[in-house]
Amino acid sequence: MDLTFDNRVAVVTGAGRGIGRAIAEELAAEGVHVVCVSRNAESCGAAAEALVAKGGKASAEALDVGDAAAVEAAAARIVEAHGKVDILVNNAGITRDGLVMRMKDAEWDDVIRTNLSSCFYWARALAPVMARQRWGRIINISSVIGLRGNAGQANYAAAKAGIFGLTKSLAREFAKRQVTVNAVAPGFIETDMTSGLDEKVTEVILGEIPLRRLGQASDISKIVTFLASAESGYITGQTFTVDGGMVM
Ligand code: NAP
Repeated sequence: MDLTFDNRVAVVTGAGRGIGRAIAEELAAEGVHVVCVSRNAESCGAAAEALVAKGGKASAEALDVGDAAAVEAAAARIVEAHGKVDILVNNAGITRDGLVMRMKDAEWDDVIRTNLSSCFYWARALAPVMARQRWGRIINISSVIGLRGNAGQANYAAAKAGIFGLTKSLAREFAKRQVTVNAVAPGFIETDMTSGLDEKVTEVILGEIPLRRLGQASDISKIVTFLASAESGYITGQTFTVDGGMVM
């Protein structure tokens, strides 16, 4: 299917590596101007440069997405530079794993702030801009862990489950202005985030995946690109699980 993107401007957080980078690449290939956001200037700068080198339109913003003031300032700069923002992909995320009985306050707070509060900060800043345009797409990257929980990841599971409630509430608040809001819940995807898993754990995970392979970043970027396109206009408030059949 050919997807329609009319001179769209997108903000993709966590675009420096992994899933976010694949999303940025696919949107840029569709002619979208992609603002690549990551924590380190080098990471988002290199991602934006690579997109431009391939003939795409891109720029970079380095900031901590868990810092409300930094998000607000960046959103204002982006709207000032482009006059609009059409697509927001909240993808930046971290893990700070540990059993609940040993989890430090900072490990809980950092994960909630980076993985959940950041989605709220960006949506609060950019959804009203989209509402004024009467067109917008917000895609929040959650996780299957938010659906099923995981021993050792209470902070991550809580943040990712929180994304579902935020997504549905935003979808209801902004639907009348043609701004759609959806969530994608990836399973185990081969990126830096999962590269630390040892062989035994990977074997156990593979045993739980009916399609018998770990996912690739492109498995996620494909559905995100569809949800960002004009063609997805009748879909809002939904979660799409992309996990090789792990959760069904
Ligand atoms: P990754 O390879 O570790 O990349 C994470 C990206 O997020 C990096 O670009 C990083 O910036 C950015 N980031 C992290 N904290 C940030 C902060 N405070 N401010 C700004 N940027 C920040 O992760 P990934 O595997 O691609 O995961 C992407 C998303 O998918 C995450 O939300 C993750 O929870 C979710 N997910 C992943 C999997 C999986 O199996 N990989 C499964 C389910 C869900 P720098 O490049 O500057 O460090």
